[in-house]
Amino acid sequence: MKVLKAQAMGMCFGVKDAIAMVMTLPQPGETAVYGELVHNEEVLSKLREKGLTQLEEERRSAPAAKPWLVITAHGVSDREKQALLGKGKGLIDTTCPLVRRVHETAKHFAQCGYFVVVVGREGHVEVKGLVGDLSRFAVVGRPEEVRRWEADRLAVICQTTTPPALLEKVFEKISRKNFGKEIRFLDTICRPTRERQRAVEELLEEVEALVVVGGRNSNNTRQLTALAESRGVRALQVEKAADLAPDWFKGFNVVGLTAGTSTLDETIEAVYQTLLHLETGVAG
Ligand code: SF4
Repeated sequence: MKVLKAQAMGMCFGVKDAIAMVMTLPQPGETAVYGELVHNEEVLSKLREKGLTQLEEERRSAPAAKPWLVITAHGVSDREKQALLGKGKGLIDTTCPLVRRVHETAKHFAQCGYFVVVVGREGHVEVKGLVGDLSRFAVVGRPEEVRRWEADRLAVICQTTTPPALLEKVFEKISRKNFGKEIRFLDTICRPTRERQRAVEELLEEVEALVVVGGRNSNNTRQLTALAESRGVRALQVEKAADLAPDWFKGFNVVGLTAGTSTLDETIEAVYQTLLHLETGVAG
């Protein structure tokens, strides 16, 4: 069986930098990560070994006993930061610069009087941070959720990991439903997401099935899987090499390999090597 790797895949610089910073903290026992630093069990267990505590994303506002908190690459709103500082916490901020840029853009539009429409997943931690400082906004995940809003001036931005094709569809619907209004649009998809999506699109032209390596909670991993399925290519999502089952690949001659932005390079390599040596009954 032939295995083709996507040209761009795996952990983005934003997550890598956040992990590198946390791994070298001088006071890990005094520090809790405010939510999931990365949707990757291997990395999380390394953090636990170092003595770091991690607060569950859904329940992170519960008071942490630790005096230091790590803000993850997904970022939080200024309001939330102030609330944490007000509780006497020290903050170690690993917000990705590309997420920070979207926050600045959203605030700028809001200050200029626009109603901000965020294309993204409602309730996702990055989106919560983005809208946390806004008073007039809407979050839209799918074209079906688009409405004609009351405001006359709209500014449309998006979660950094939004699939470009989805953004295009949602924006088209926003323009149609809000015809006659002033609409500003800034595509805030981050470069690593765009490169990974493009690489998968290219790969899907050449393969019969796609292996996607990534955490089950990872938004961008799910989107890579969904992209393959939308093109009629079978997608197999795994977290590690041990999850691969030879039976899945019976009858396939060429499979593709990609990975979400929270996946370590060594995990991708282990999956690749395992795929190359799977006994599928098809010669490689
Ligand atoms: S996915 Fe993009 S925005 Fe998010 S941490 Fe990675 S580089 Fe930054």
